[in-house]
Amino acid sequence: MKHGLLYPQPDWIRELSGSWDSAREFTDIMALLHRVAYANVVHGGGPFAAALTHADGRIVELNVNLVVPCNDCGAHAEGVTLHNAQRLLAQAGTPVRDLHSFYLFSTGMPCVGCAGRIWLFRPARVYASVSKELIEANSPFSEGPVGKDFWPRARSERGIELIENFGFGSGEAALRPFRAFTQALSEGKTDSYLERKH
Ligand SMILES: [Zn+2]
Repeated sequence: MKHGLLYPQPDWIRELSGSWDSAREFTDIMALLHRVAYANVVHGGGPFAAALTHADGRIVELNVNLVVPCNDCGAHAEGVTLHNAQRLLAQAGTPVRDLHSFYLFSTGMPCVGCAGRIWLFRPARVYASVSKELIEANSPFSEGPVGKDFWPRARSERGIELIENFGFGSGEAALRPFRAFTQALSEGKTDSYLERKH
């Protein structure tokens, strides 16, 4: 685990994701995130993963939903990734005022909290896989009211482009983490006391 980061980086993520210094195809990045999100469920976490990359697909930070292990309702995958990435860039000698030369990948459409942080951190693009409707249909999560004008305004006022349903394909790999999480919940194998709808 690196020091000086807001959130921990679970050791198994590096083992699963290989070298972060190589350029990658964007579809490969999302396919990796689907596998990481599933692995996070197996490790007792939430079914989400995200990555912040350079424009050529090199990974700056890749992380997962850490709500339960961190006792932190804000520790969603996108938020964890954005907060850590900016610090990692500074540690590497490239402090940035925002993340506008980088791309954010997420296994799900950002919730209301993550959308707010995306506005602040300002990645150039957001590649999101599973829709809010399918997240809520396949898991107990409530993603919150992200207004219809949010993403158009993010584009026009912040230069943030949203690419929806990215790497969704047949949907099997994308939905597998959510279904596994819901099953683990029903079997009492995961603690989602911070994740339930209210
Ligand atoms: Zn979120």
